[in-house]
Amino acid sequence: MNKPAELKLETVPVWINGKAIASASRYVDVFNPALGQATKRVVFSDAPMIDEAVKAAAAALPAWRDTPPLRRARVMQRFLQLLQDNQKDLARIVTEEHGKTLPDAMGSVQRGIEVVEFACGIPHLLKGEYAENVGTQVDTHTVRQPVGVCAGITPFNFPVMVPLWMFPMAIACGNTFVLKPSEKVPSASVRMAELFREAGLPDGVFNVVHGDKAAVDALLLHEKISAVSFVGSTPIAKYIYETCARNGKRVQALGGAKNHAVVLPDADLEFAADALIGAAYGSAGERCMAISAVVAVGAAGDPLVRLLEQKAKSIKVGPGDAQGVEMGPLVTGEHRQKVSGFIQKGKQEGAKVVLDGSTPPVKDGFFLGTTLFDHVTPEMEIYRNEIFGPVLAVLRVKTLEEAIALVNRNPYANGTAIFTESGGAARRFENEIQVGMVGINVPIPVPVAFFSFGGWKSSLFGDLHVHGVEGVKFYTRTKVVTSRWPHQDTPAPGFNMPTLG
Ligand code: NAD
Repeated sequence: MNKPAELKLETVPVWINGKAIASASRYVDVFNPALGQATKRVVFSDAPMIDEAVKAAAAALPAWRDTPPLRRARVMQRFLQLLQDNQKDLARIVTEEHGKTLPDAMGSVQRGIEVVEFACGIPHLLKGEYAENVGTQVDTHTVRQPVGVCAGITPFNFPVMVPLWMFPMAIACGNTFVLKPSEKVPSASVRMAELFREAGLPDGVFNVVHGDKAAVDALLLHEKISAVSFVGSTPIAKYIYETCARNGKRVQALGGAKNHAVVLPDADLEFAADALIGAAYGSAGERCMAISAVVAVGAAGDPLVRLLEQKAKSIKVGPGDAQGVEMGPLVTGEHRQKVSGFIQKGKQEGAKVVLDGSTPPVKDGFFLGTTLFDHVTPEMEIYRNEIFGPVLAVLRVKTLEEAIALVNRNPYANGTAIFTESGGAARRFENEIQVGMVGINVPIPVPVAFFSFGGWKSSLFGDLHVHGVEGVKFYTRTKVVTSRWPHQDTPAPGFNMPTLG
């Protein structure tokens, strides 16, 4: 990719009350990681700007909440069409700011669009329960009502998909929304806000602000925010969960991961290695569902490592928009440095270096090659930490039982996979593993939009997963109504605790 001689920095605005606002007291650079250069600058919202966005969402709430779900669904249908029409453009923005390859970006945008497809069925999903004659001439029914103004705080690694896990569900349920996407990849959210407006969404229902901790804190402490959805690293997820709980807000905070793939000796090793290569190095390992630890059981170890080495070595690294490239750069220079630090650490800790990707294979940009460590042990830092880069660690165990115990001891529990030809082993793994999302011969078991996505333990703070039916539950409150319509035969209300009999 040629480096432009002089880059004029385009400004990424916030989106408040149906308008883009580019003037601010502070801007921060946005990088194109394949160039290693700032190509844009983003407005950083201060507390008054966050307040303006939340107030716009609060003002839009009564009318949107009272809009019949069928009409809300029709806006969703038009938004769905516009997202499909603009899928390539959104993917291009993802590649430009995140660095992942265009086909990978297209796939991630598609998975986000599928949540909007699901949200189009909201009238059915909001239906309550009804029971006649729960007592003599007494009926009970439930209604699901929106929770109010919701906020979403999202990470850098899925600039379109993760925001789409949240705001279409919240808005279809009748809430209004303020999104704070990652400041490293801010443009796609603003583009989606423009498309949503074009689809007929009233002003103020969806707003986008930018910034870092200060912007997040202003949202978390705002009295008009009722619910917060967060996706990001575990320490911040915990902080978000605790702060929201202290301030009486509903919260779901999805955290980091260390996803294991267990490979049994009876597995088709060629198939497993192909699957693991994509899962470990795709998107330069910057996926919350990336496989970063392979647990090789017994005789699977040596042949599997040979295959992984062969395949990892031939991965083509380069700018995400170049033809035939399989792995792009890391998101920032700082992140590349952090990942390089882990590679050095792994060597010092005594893991066997099968492939060392620490010398950047491409001169400009934030690139690293593929790294493969073998004979990694659970005490090593490279196993205990989420590296979030193109580094795969192989651990060796003797039995399935040992493999399950190893995975279950890890504090992270987002996704996991098993590769085997044995139904019995797979069933045992599925039953005993303490992880939120499980793949059987599927390396990255990201649930489709009509199921829900979420991990366990340090990978999720809160009770409900995102999208699917759990998303509807998160963005609504249930009200239970008990009614009777007295007439001459109705028994008189009693004085004691009613049994309604
Ligand atoms: P991050 O935690 O650094 O940032 C996430 C969001 O929090 C961003 O919007 C950021 O601006 C904000 N933030 C950063 N520091 C903050 C602070 N001190 N206080 C308040 N807010 C703050 O995460 P990231 O680096 O953008 O994304 C990568 C992480 O996200 C990885 O750990 C990855 O596993 C995780 N992730 C998890 C899932 C999942 O579904 N569990 C999905 C995608 C990414």
